[in-house]
Amino acid sequence: MRILVVEDEADLQRQLAERLRAEGYVLDTAGDGAEGLYYGSEFDYDAAIIDLGLPKLGGIELIQRLRAADRRWPILVLTARGDWRDKVAGLEAGADDYLTKPFQMEELLARLHALLRRAAGFASPVLACGPVELDMARKEVRRQGEPVEVTAYEYKVLEYLMLNPGRVVSKTELTDHLYDQDFERDSNVIEVFVGRLRKKLDPFNPIRTIRGQGYRLNVEAGG
Ligand code: CA
Repeated sequence: MRILVVEDEADLQRQLAERLRAEGYVLDTAGDGAEGLYYGSEFDYDAAIIDLGLPKLGGIELIQRLRAADRRWPILVLTARGDWRDKVAGLEAGADDYLTKPFQMEELLARLHALLRRAAGFASPVLACGPVELDMARKEVRRQGEPVEVTAYEYKVLEYLMLNPGRVVSKTELTDHLYDQDFERDSNVIEVFVGRLRKKLDPFNPIRTIRGQGYRLNVEAGG
């Protein structure tokens, strides 16, 4: 999952980046609204975290411009304590949720998970595809209720496919959304991860190969 973080307070931006990277997210960080608009216009994200009080271009205007440019990913807004007008303005501009500073990282992560799930059409905290389940809170994959041991990268591949159900996802898209720029960007690596996941989820493997295009989660059967 690739997340855009737009926050001008250097300490908070660093804390957010450290924690989100530790959780396995891939990030782009921007320190002002203009930079945020550049990233948001140029690249594709799974969600954005945007502070409202930003230099150069305010958070509200940034959100309005991203939405006007048809950027549909979920947006979590960070607001100063107690300013209800900001929260209302943020939501009216097109944000999906807000968090008041100061906040606990655990709450931010829980809200981010909920936004990602809802954007994919899941109401439950556990993503399910037939007998295969993925628990975002516990970072756990289960097959018929039994935990399956997966590596962090295998988990990320399955999570991305489950959050994009029924859609063909190319290897390039997987690479863009799952790895930082410095990672070995080799699509063979993705094939290896998918191959291992299939073995581990057998006989309920829900990942289909669409020749020449990529992968698609088989939503109906889950196996
Ligand atoms: Ca600020």
